[in-house]
Amino acid sequence: MFLTISTTGVPERPATDLGFLLHKHPDRAQAFSTSYGTAHVLYPEADADRCTAALLLEVDAVALVRRNKGKGRGGAPDAALAQYVNDRPYAASSLLAVALSAVFSSAMRGVCDALPDRAAQPLPLHIEVPALPARGGPAVVHALFEPLGWTVTAEPVPLDDRFPEWGDSRYVRLVLESETLTLAAALRHLYVLLPVLDDAKHYWVAPDEVDKLLRAGEGWLPGHPEQKLITSRYLSRRWSLTRDAMERLELARLAETDDSQAEEIDNAVEADTEEAPQPTPLAVLRRDAILTALRASGAARVLDLGCGQGQLVQALLKDVRFTEIVGVDVSMRALTVAARRLKLDRLGERQASRLQLIQGSLLYTDRRLKGYDAAVLSEVIEHLDLPRLPALEYAVFGAARPRTVVVTTPNVEYNVRWESLPAGHVRHGDHRFEWTRAQFRAWAEAVAARHGYAVEYRPVGPDDPEVGPPTQLALFTLTADEEAKAA
Ligand code: SAH
Repeated sequence: MFLTISTTGVPERPATDLGFLLHKHPDRAQAFSTSYGTAHVLYPEADADRCTAALLLEVDAVALVRRNKGKGRGGAPDAALAQYVNDRPYAASSLLAVALSAVFSSAMRGVCDALPDRAAQPLPLHIEVPALPARGGPAVVHALFEPLGWTVTAEPVPLDDRFPEWGDSRYVRLVLESETLTLAAALRHLYVLLPVLDDAKHYWVAPDEVDKLLRAGEGWLPGHPEQKLITSRYLSRRWSLTRDAMERLELARLAETDDSQAEEIDNAVEADTEEAPQPTPLAVLRRDAILTALRASGAARVLDLGCGQGQLVQALLKDVRFTEIVGVDVSMRALTVAARRLKLDRLGERQASRLQLIQGSLLYTDRRLKGYDAAVLSEVIEHLDLPRLPALEYAVFGAARPRTVVVTTPNVEYNVRWESLPAGHVRHGDHRFEWTRAQFRAWAEAVAARHGYAVEYRPVGPDDPEVGPPTQLALFTLTADEEAKAA
């Protein structure tokens, strides 16, 4: 597997600067061992006019097989892997991308202490990959690289030169040329797009692949016309991960363009249709219980996480002791409804300055959520798949870490008391689970213990002697020890 990166120079900007930018000296051939084999960096040419760095990956097929043992579903021999072992030694692929990030990690981040200014500037680049597996052929190669500012040559490699009638192989010879890109951007394009073209990524896609993709895609993947293809292929068609990534890319794009036509990122929001048969609707009782807990905690700056259509935010705004109120939801549609409900466009300056509605997913740590007095998760946790709950737990209790956290969720035991609810049904179509009091407490105790909070419980709605209240509320307070540590 082989890839070359060339640049040209002028006297005041010699081409050999490439060596500084890549953090690899042109005079030395260097070898790095990776989990798949040895990566060599050498410079076939290095003078002031023209300099070429070559990355050559010598794949250790045995190591590859060993690494992948047991990783396929059900442990069955992996047909794709067999093919890997056969054609990997000369084909560029996702392995090359892995090597690229291992060997040129600083360059990929645009870090260059020797020539900081040069690292941030575009330079003439000529990149060649002689044998690149390209699913979808040259058309896909063009569609992926051209929007990024590359001039693309993608020539199909014939299956066998001696027998042209056999047609083309799945390989192309790729040449990329640009004068407008930085080296860091170029490397990040390759890091993502080589595996995308290969589309046979051999290693198991772990959840942090999404982070890697977003990090490498920063600045160019949001808004790329083939964003969906890139994301789904990069993540090996693991749809849940793909959806996460798409969602976060959409957030990044919104952050960049500040427009809000993101209707499609809608995480199943419906009006709060919970119909309580008692005089005061349960939703109102819940809001009151939350407000009572917040007031008693002395909180002034409050996060409403998963704020939905903004009912609680509206109640918070009416009480001047809450000086800063932030509603967060993943659903743009919910936020749009909330903005309308709160008449955001007509609020006086004073009110408006107390309020923020931000789009974000609670499954990821978010710097914007740090430093608040209190956070509310009202009827939110049951909308997440259970395996994702630890991510939310970490983002809220581990990273954002407000002094007070109020969590409410339905008490499934109470469901037998709802006349309209057929036995064994959850209350809302989008509820992924509903817990008994014991289950909720077990979760809350564990969360409190893991993150240094104390927790107490309050019933919301009529507290039935047998089955308990319809809604359960847990009030978490950071322990004095933890608070001292934070201060
Ligand atoms: N807190 C409101 C709304 C509850 S409905 C209330 O008590 O009435 C659950 C809300 O959580 C929805 O608006 C949904 O869009 C939001 N949500 C679901 N998953 C989310 C996530 N990962 N990040 C942020 N919000 C999420």
